[in-house]
Amino acid sequence: MLDLLDKLYEQNYLTKEEIVYILKNLDDAHKKILFDYSHSTRLKYYGNKVFMRGLIEFSNICKQDCLYCGIRASNRKVDRYRLTPDEIIECCREGYRLGYRTFVLQSGEDFWYTEEILTGIIRKIKELFPDVAITLSIGERSEEVYRNLFEAGADRFLLRHETASRHLYEKLHPTMNFDNRINCLKTLKKIGYQVGAGFMVGLPEQTAEDLAGDLCFLKELEPDMIGIGPFIPHRETPLKGSKGGTVEDTLVMLAFARLLVPDCLLPATTAMGTLHPKGRELALKVGANVVMPNLSPTAVRAKYELYENKICTGDEAAHCRQCIERRINSAGFEVDMGRGDSLKSRNSMQRV
Ligand code: SAM
Repeated sequence: MLDLLDKLYEQNYLTKEEIVYILKNLDDAHKKILFDYSHSTRLKYYGNKVFMRGLIEFSNICKQDCLYCGIRASNRKVDRYRLTPDEIIECCREGYRLGYRTFVLQSGEDFWYTEEILTGIIRKIKELFPDVAITLSIGERSEEVYRNLFEAGADRFLLRHETASRHLYEKLHPTMNFDNRINCLKTLKKIGYQVGAGFMVGLPEQTAEDLAGDLCFLKELEPDMIGIGPFIPHRETPLKGSKGGTVEDTLVMLAFARLLVPDCLLPATTAMGTLHPKGRELALKVGANVVMPNLSPTAVRAKYELYENKICTGDEAAHCRQCIERRINSAGFEVDMGRGDSLKSRNSMQRV
């Protein structure tokens, strides 16, 4: 076991079989070594800084029907909302005032936001706040749309692959296609976005082999950002009776992600903070280096309920900003309010 952990630390590589072996045999003593290695790798690449992103959940309307997700199209109990372009700009204005230099615009797959509307929002944000980065997390669109959004000024795109197991993916996504998801990620990369992939931990029927497959997929894709969070069941979905993921299992996946893709940006997700009062701090201590406080208007916060008991749904943006900073400091890290581009993208920009 120790030789495999040493190999992972020194070479940032393991085969799928080696990862499966570790996942099936990891005891507490070796887990501590894994976490020490991932923490020191994070320090080596990014120091003790934590990047802040202002998250704007601008629509909970979605045409997809993912079995795990609280805002899936079939959930008739969701109180649906859409922020207007002006309302989105207002959130950015407040965020900019609070010091944020990255805005993450996230929504369900809501095609009310046409290419024209989205490019208008992106151009306006860049015109008002030229020193910010814009991250989109709006699901699947055509290559042409992705390209035009990029040309309008979008810098980054988050599109979790959700699970690299075709079998599991097809079961969980009745309205979606596995190959299309993977192709979207490749297309986004080709266009020049800083790309984020990632997966949920603790999905029903997910095995150690599946999780190792997710990690190998990330190693191959080499994304700029990696979003990993526990699956948390939602009462109004077909997966309501499931067990869901644990903090401990997710921490192990975060540590692996840091070690396999050492220069990635790795968020301590809100889902971690939902499962455990110190979930995000624990994530920061095993290699995570990004947090995404909420900038959405408080009137709509609770309506973006992907999973149950989501935290921070009643807090003003200014409160979230301070609360997160306190948490980051108490965990021994420092806030960085800069754009926080990935090291991979900074290096490739230098090469150009
Ligand atoms: N529609 C966009 C997309 O497909 O990428 C972005 C929004 S989607 C709601 C954001 C992420 O929420 C998904 O990638 C998924 O991993 C996560 N998510 C959805 N339901 C969840 C649940 N029950 N527990 C944990 N994470 C969940």
